[in-house]
Formats: sequence, C-alpha cells, structure tokens
Amino acid sequence: MDETRDERRAFTHVRALMTHTGEGFVALTSAGDVRLMNEAAEEILGRTRAEGVGQPIEALGVPELAETTRAVIAAADCSRPRSVSLVLHGRDLICTVAPYHDQDSCGVVVTIRDQSELTRSRKRAEAILQSTADGLIVYSSQSRITFVNNTASLMLGIPVEELIETDRDLWTLCGLQPLETFDPQRGDSQVREVTLEQPVHRVVDVRTDPVVDDHDMYLGYVATIHDVTAEREIGQMKNEFVSTVSHELRTPLTSIKGYVDLILDGDAGEINDTQREFLTIVKENSDRLVDLINDLLDISRIESGRIHLKVQPLQVAGRIKGAVDTFRAVLDQAGHTVTIEVPDDLPLAAGDPDRVGQVLINFISNAIKYSPEGGNVRVRAEADDEFVRVSVSDEGIGIAEEDLAQLFTKFYRVDSKLTREIGGTGLGLSIVKSIIELLGGQVGCESTPGEGSTFWFTLPLASADLVRMPTIEGPGGVGGTILVVDQNPEVADLIETYLFKRGYDVIKAHSAEEAFDLAISESPAVITVDVMIEDGKGFDLLQKLTDTPMTSRIPVVVLSIVCDEGRSQRMGAANYLEKPIDREKLASVIDDLVGSVASPVILVVDDDRRINDLLCANLKSLGYAVIAAYDGREAMVAVHAKRPHMILLDLRMPVMDGYQVMEKLREDPETADIPVVIMTAYHLDDSRADVLGYAAAHVCKPIDENELVGRIHELLTERESS
Ligand code: ADP
Repeated sequence: MDETRDERRAFTHVRALMTHTGEGFVALTSAGDVRLMNEAAEEILGRTRAEGVGQPIEALGVPELAETTRAVIAAADCSRPRSVSLVLHGRDLICTVAPYHDQDSCGVVVTIRDQSELTRSRKRAEAILQSTADGLIVYSSQSRITFVNNTASLMLGIPVEELIETDRDLWTLCGLQPLETFDPQRGDSQVREVTLEQPVHRVVDVRTDPVVDDHDMYLGYVATIHDVTAEREIGQMKNEFVSTVSHELRTPLTSIKGYVDLILDGDAGEINDTQREFLTIVKENSDRLVDLINDLLDISRIESGRIHLKVQPLQVAGRIKGAVDTFRAVLDQAGHTVTIEVPDDLPLAAGDPDRVGQVLINFISNAIKYSPEGGNVRVRAEADDEFVRVSVSDEGIGIAEEDLAQLFTKFYRVDSKLTREIGGTGLGLSIVKSIIELLGGQVGCESTPGEGSTFWFTLPLASADLVRMPTIEGPGGVGGTILVVDQNPEVADLIETYLFKRGYDVIKAHSAEEAFDLAISESPAVITVDVMIEDGKGFDLLQKLTDTPMTSRIPVVVLSIVCDEGRSQRMGAANYLEKPIDREKLASVIDDLVGSVASPVILVVDDDRRINDLLCANLKSLGYAVIAAYDGREAMVAVHAKRPHMILLDLRMPVMDGYQVMEKLREDPETADIPVVIMTAYHLDDSRADVLGYAAAHVCKPIDENELVGRIHELLTERESS
C-alpha cells in the first residue's frame, strides 16, 4: 500500500518536473508508440497530446527524429543514446534519444532542447571573431581546433575546413617545431614573435590565452595571431633613417671637430684668448653633438639587434678607475669629490669593457650633473655568489617616487626647472638599461628628493669558460709609413696631420684601386681604411688585402662611421675605430700595430696583475711588443691569435696553470719551439721535471729586471742566429 503511495508521489514529482522544465520530453514504448508528452514537447513539435499519444513516432511529423528513434530501438543492445540536430518551425533543436529499461518495461525517452538562442549567440560571437583583424584559433581542452576565423586561415594559408575539428599543433601550423616548453594551461598569456614564410612573408605575434570556466576548470585555449609586419618594417625604416642621418652628420663633424682641435693645439699658428674662448665653445658643442649622435646610433643598434658586445672577464675596479679619471678635470672644477670603494678580492665580472665603461661614465656624469657643486660622489662595487653590483651615489637633487619607474625609458627626463636648465636628451639611461640587460645584469635606482640618488647595475660573475682575448701592445714611437685610405680628402688630411705629428710618414689614397696599388708598391707598416669608400668598396679592399700574400701581413685598421666592427674583424681587420676619430685612440692603435710588426713579441703570463703590468711596461720601454695574459687559457688564446717570439710564464695560476700551458705548447708542433722563460717564486715541482725540462730558462721571483732582460735578449739572439 505504502509502496504504491510512494510510487505515486514519485510519479507526481516526475510529472511536475516534466511540466515545468523548458525542455520537451516524449516517452515511447519499445514499439515506437508515443506514451507521454510534456507541454514543452507539444509546443516545440506543434502537436497536441491528443494528436500524439498512442500514435507511432512518425505521427509527430518530424522524420529525422522518427528515423533516429527507430535506429535506437533497432540497435541490438538498445543501450546507446543518440543525438540529432534539426531545424523545426525556424528553431534549432537538439534531440537526444535514449533507451530505458527496467524490470517491467522498456522503451525510449526523447529529450528536445531548443538551442535557437544559443545558436544565435554563437553566431553573433563568430561574426565578431570573424570581423577582427587578428587571426584566431580556439583549441579545446583536448587540443582540438574548435574554431578558426578566416583571417587565421588566410595568414596560415590553410583552408578553414582543413583546420577545424583537427588536432593540428599551433606551432607546427606557424612553421615551427612543436614547442616542448609550451604549456597552454599555464595561467598567464604568452606571446611569441614568429615569422611566417608561407603563403607570404609576415611577422606575427602569436599570443595564447587559456580559457577557464567559473570554477577554474581548463576548457582549452585561444591563439591570437597579430600581424606586426608593418610595425617591424616601420621600426626598421626608422632605425635605418636614424642610422643614415647620423652617419651623414658624422662625416662633416669629423672635419669640424678635428680641425678645431688642431687650431686649439696651435697647429695653425698662435691664437689669441678670444679666439681660444670661441673655439672652445665650438669644440664643446661639437663634442655634445658627437655624444648625441652616438646615443642615437646606440639606440638604433640596440633596437635593430645590431649591437656587437665583446663579453670577456672584466676587472670592474679598473673600469671604475678609468671612468672616474675621465671626469677628473670636471670634478676639480665643480669641487666634487669622488670616493671609490672596491674590495681587493672583487671577483671578475663578465662584460664588454667598453660598454661597461660607457655605463659607468653615464652614471658618474649624471651624478655630477644633477648635484650642486661640492657634493660627494661615491662609487662602490661588491659581489655575491652570482653578480657583481656597482653603485654610484650622489648627494644631488634626487628623484621623486613617480619619476623613478620611468627613468630608464627612452627620452624620459624629469620635468623640473632644474633638469631643463641642465639640459640633456633622456637617452643615456635607456641605453644603459639595454646594455646591462643584454649583458645579463639589471639596473635600478633608489632616491630621496633633495638628498640624493643611488644608481646601480649588476653584471654576472665571469664563468670559468669565459676567456679574454688579450691584445698586443707595441713599444710606440717607432715611426714608419702609414697608408691612409679615405674618400674624403679633408678627413684624409686630418688623419695625416695627426699621424705626422706622431712621427709617421703618411701616404694617402682616395680610391680602393689606388690604395691596393700603393699597398703593393710601398709596403706600409699599417693601412687605415674607411670601409665606406666608393659605396662600401672598402670591405672589398680589406678582403683583397687579406687574400693577397704580399699584403696579407700588413695590419689594417678600419676607420668607419658604419659601426660594423664584427664584419671588419671577421674579414681580418687588426683593429676598428669609429669616426669621428679620437686622436689618442688612433695614435695608440697605430703605435701598437707598428710596434708589434717591427719588434719581437713577448707574451707575459702572470695572474698577479701588478707584476704583469710592470713587466709589460718595462718590456715596451725596451722596444718589445707585449701581450698580457692573466691565466693559462688566456695565454693559449693569445698564442693562437698571434704567435709570440717568447713567453714569460708564471707557474701558479688559476684556471690553467703554467705546467698545463707548457704541456699544451709542446703538444702542438706550431707552438712547440716557442722559447718559454719560467718565472716563479716557489720551489719547482720535481714530479713535473719532464714538463719543466722544456723551459728555455728559469728566473726566480722577485724578478731581477736586468737578469730577465739579459736572458730574453740572449734567447732571442740565439734564435736569430740559429
Ligand atoms: P639626460 O641626463 O641626458 O637627460 P639620462 O637618460 O641620463 O638623460 O637621464 C634621464 C633623466 O633622469 C634625467 O633627465 C634626470 O631627470 C634624471 N636623472 C638621471 N640621473 C640623475 C641623478 N643622478 N640625480 C637626479 N636625477 C637624475
């Protein structure tokens, strides 16, 4: 009795559910006759219960539904639900036909859902997605493509139907290898720049964003393909424009700066005080213009990825001292003091010496510029396990909190009366940031307005496998003939004047052909070449000089406004200098090269820099060319770059010791006969007598200069006579 009441109650509940749900229900017997229909089914199908109940399914007037129902009934196991989508009276319907069976009966239940609204909103969304200028691909959680817009299909050159409902990998579609590290489920969006070559060349940013529901369940991801070809082209055009304009400005500036320097030096006769004052103003302003052009060129090189960094183990203390020294005169004038605090045992950092110097000069010049007279500038360096950190602190005007965040962006200058008066471009710090980040470090600034600022940067410590390329230094003042190749006669005359004052004879050529003929007939000690002669023919000349046996031994110095140091070095240039030419630099480069060609070359290998520097200076003053190496591996790099006439070798050294150097030298027939003088303060290791036996001589530390020089002279003359 109770059971029947329960059943009846349950039935009432089911009826209520069936009546009030928005979905249509039709229950059928196993013969396919309609037993029950709810109101929603009546409304959707347009048939009353009176018309349907007791009739076969076909009587409902929906052939696709009847067909699916019959198929479910006919299926042998009668257990699998099937769905059918259809349009009826203008509505999008999805009908699910599911079999049921219990102890007493079996049959089929049909659920009919009106999807019209859903379809409409999907169509709206699709229309929006189709109309965007970006390509879109939607992936399901199973990494199947569920939607592709026409733009994506066009960009990839693949028809939509070949993409949709496939599991084609996003990166393979973009012409890349599948990215192992790609995890679309990772919370944040990721952007990658990709170059598509097919069907047309395009640079695109591919951005992937995960799609999650309200419960953070991962539903798949959307890939957006944004065409940045035009932006990149404009960027490149801008860089080229800046680069060309800067180069065009450099050529006249080279002459202006150079000749003003010569007049100020008295080369054009005596000048009076007023003339000196006016010319000094011209000089200062042309220097400013050179700085500005250099900044612009740096920016365009950084932005176009053409910046060439020579990363090597770096003694930060030396760089700091060098940078501070360049400001000595200014510091004294403004009454500033500078303190340098660097621990003696500061480890070597990895960096490009010139670029790190540039960063330090920028920080120190700002510290002086933005401080009242008489302030103290403190330069400090310290290290932890990974980085060397250098900071420059001043007691100047300071920087407000809101400016700090933007300080390192291009052209940003704090907007204050004082900054405006001081003048500047706002380029320096953005260049600093790019350089340091390219070197693997970071930059930052802490400041209190009115009290001062601390600008800092970090550089990674030099790893054991980083090797410095030691350079050769000649004794200087040797004289000789220099061939100067420059299309611009004014610039050639200027270089001639510089070199003549330094004691060299100069011959000039204004074309590549003339230069090559003179190189053969005159055998100059060094050739300077402006690679831009005759629209870039300088590189051909360089190549020809290195390829021709009669000229291949003459060192070539490239003087250029093109900033193509990497290319010049690859093509065999001995050195590279940028225009406008720095007189001192040119002189020292030429001195070194002439000296090293004319004199015996001695490689000094000692990790104690004081001893090494002292030895090198003394040897240079005695007319030798020297190469300084601070450990065994640097020594081996130097030996292979330029075979020395002799090696002075310390035994105890980090990285690769003297015994290992000896072994390596002997193993290689090319280097086995280079005489080695061992310098050591310790007892020699008898167990290594075999290696030590190869040494041409031993000298004990502290070194007796006369003894050493005597031994070197003896050994070199022995060689010559044998
Ligand atoms: P510039 O000095 O040519 O304007 P920088 O990029 O070197 O360009 O510096 C950007 C701005 O940062 C400067 O204009 C100045 O407002 C601020 N700034 C830089 N260094 C300091 C400093 N030591 N003290 C105060 N302000 C500074």
